Amino acid sequence: MSKYTVKLKFNREIAEGTMAFHFEKPAGLSFKAGQFGNLTLINPAETDAEGDTRAFSFASAPYEDELIFAARMRDTAFKRVLKKMQPGTEVMLDGPYGSFTLHNKASVPAVYLTGGIGVTPVRSIVLQAVHDQVPHRILVFYANRRPEDAAFLDDLSVAHASNPNYTFVGTMAEMEKSSREWHGETGFINKAMLLKFIDDLTLPIFYIDGPAPMVKAMRDMLSAAGVDEDNIRTEEFSGY
Ligand SMILES: Cc1cc2nc3c(=O)[nH]c(=O)nc-3n(C[C@H](O)[C@H](O)[C@H](O)COP(=O)(O)OP(=O)(O)OC[C@H]3O[C@@H](n4cnc5c(N)ncnc54)[C@H](O)[C@@H]3O)c2cc1C
Repeated sequence: MSKYTVKLKFNREIAEGTMAFHFEKPAGLSFKAGQFGNLTLINPAETDAEGDTRAFSFASAPYEDELIFAARMRDTAFKRVLKKMQPGTEVMLDGPYGSFTLHNKASVPAVYLTGGIGVTPVRSIVLQAVHDQVPHRILVFYANRRPEDAAFLDDLSVAHASNPNYTFVGTMAEMEKSSREWHGETGFINKAMLLKFIDDLTLPIFYIDGPAPMVKAMRDMLSAAGVDEDNIRTEEFSGY
C-alpha cells in the first residue's frame, strides 16, 4: 500500500444527489477493479468528529487514464468540502485496499447484487472485464428507487451491448415517483428476479456491496434461496 497526492480534474453530478470526482491518475498507482482507497482532505476549510478521511471504491477501471470516485452528497463537513473543491486541488490517496475483485475461475459465473452508491466498484469491475474480454459470465443486478437516482446506469448498460457474456438487469423500486421512461425490471432484487436470468443459483459466486442494510437483505435473500455461504462475497460501505 502506498500514499499518493492526487489532483482533482473536475466533478460532475451523475445522479440526483450523487457526484463523481475525476482525479489525475498518479504515476505508479496500480489497483485491481473492485478495490478501494482512503481519501484524506488536505487542510480542509471545515472538519467534524468523523475526521478528514473516507474510504471510496475506485469507480474507474484500472485501464482508464484517470481516477473516478463517486459519492452520495450528504450534508457532512467532508462532503461539503469535497463538493466545493476546485480543479487542481490535491487530496491524499492511500491504497489500494480490499479483495472485492473478480475470481479467477472463468467457468464460474459472477453475479453482482448492488444498489445505489454500491455501484462504484461494480462499474470498475464490469468496464475492466469488458475491456479485457474476460471469458467469465457476468451478471449485474442494480437496484435503485428511480432512474434519476441511478449513477453510471449508461456505463453499465452500454457494456451490456458489446459483450455477449455480460447481462445487465436494472430494477427500479419507485417508478411512480419518476418522470423518466423505464423498460427494465421493477421492485427489489429477489429470488424470482434472479431466477429469470440464472438457471441454477448454486453455480455462481455472488458479490454484494453497498450500505450495510442492503448487504444484509441480499445475503439473507440468497441464503433463503439455498445459496451456499462460501459462494457469497460482500463489501459493506460503512458510514451509511
Ligand atoms: C470499502 C468501502 C468503500 C466505500 N466506497 C464508497 C463509495 O464508493 N462511495 C461512497 O459514497 N461511499 C463509500 N464508502 C462509504 C464512505 O467511506 C463514507 O463512510 C460514506 O460516504 C459516509 O460519509 P459521510 O461523510 O456522508 O458521513 P459521515 O460523516 O462519515 O457519517 C458518520 C455517521 O453519521 C451518520 N450520518 C451522517 N450524515 C447523515 C445523514 N444525512 N443522514 C443519516 N445519517 C447520517 C452516518 O450514518 C454515520 O454513522 C465506502 C466505505 C467502505 C468501507
